[in-house]
Amino acid sequence: MSAVYDTWRGTVALSIVVPVFNEEEVLSVLVARLRPILDGCGEPYEVLAVDDGSTDRTPELLEGVRSAWPELRVVTLRRNSGHQAALTAGLHRARGAHVVSIDADLQDPPELIPDMLALARADGLDIVYGVRADRSTDTGFKRRTAGAYYWLMRRLAGSFVPAQAGDFRLLSRSVVETLKTLPDQGQIYRLLIPSLGFRSGRIAYQREERAAGATKYPLHKMVLLALDSVTSFSALPLRLATAIGALSLLVCLAFFVWALTVHITGNTLPGWTSLMITVLFFGAVQLFCVGMLGEYVARIYTAVQGRPTYFVARDTEEEKQ
Ligand code: UDP
Ligand code: MG
Repeated sequence: MSAVYDTWRGTVALSIVVPVFNEEEVLSVLVARLRPILDGCGEPYEVLAVDDGSTDRTPELLEGVRSAWPELRVVTLRRNSGHQAALTAGLHRARGAHVVSIDADLQDPPELIPDMLALARADGLDIVYGVRADRSTDTGFKRRTAGAYYWLMRRLAGSFVPAQAGDFRLLSRSVVETLKTLPDQGQIYRLLIPSLGFRSGRIAYQREERAAGATKYPLHKMVLLALDSVTSFSALPLRLATAIGALSLLVCLAFFVWALTVHITGNTLPGWTSLMITVLFFGAVQLFCVGMLGEYVARIYTAVQGRPTYFVARDTEEEKQ
């Protein structure tokens, strides 16, 4: 597959990858704001809308927009595969010399795209991150959980992870080609891309409110992303299990000495409470550690299966051939 796309390399200056999942309310606003900016750049571009298995009117609306906007390319995934998988599909198929990924809900201002491109060209950068300088429009809960996420990931994965840089960023062709060489294993791009070590810059922006519709990231998806982020970038929890094991061994030894002393002094009857506490404590520690191991085994399992994270049902660009 990639051979086909390699031959398209650099046929446009800029690709914009937009994952869309049930965004019927926001689509027209997005097009109205994005198109003038891109037309104004005066360079050949394409917009890849990756329809991540939308079940609302998003596909029809995209089709409608496409007839009037030849630069719009629609890649349809067979089913909802998640934000990062939709991004993967878009990045794998983008043809641009530079590729910008942006959310459909206009929380990231598309007006910044020309600035990102200019900065990358002026300073010879391979990556330009959009960094959220102000998240006052997000809910307090979202701000705090996001703050905790970036804090934890900078500590676990490494300080190369830029804080508050989400999936609004510009990549050069060489970064995209590097990403394409990696196996498709549910990548978390906000961690993976900084870890590659390309020259990067940042542009700060105010995070706006969602233009319309509701968030497609309910709490359980946020928890899954955090769990995935930790297990794919750090083996610390596994080492933690060893540490917890060692600690409980020490506690166990202390209990042993105590139990023996009590036995020798012949005072063994009132042992029920301590016994219960010990059994419960070590049961909990063991289950916790087994669970942690399970998280990593699950990752190995999925990696060994080697199934792609997405399947493309349709790419309007291929229909033009
Ligand atoms: N999205 C997607 N698949 C999903 C969930 C979300 O393609 O399963 C897209 C969504 O359409 C949007 C982007 O990912 O363009 C970010 O989602 P959202 O704005 O709902 O997340 P939030 O900003 O609330 O974290
Ligand atoms: Mg959003």
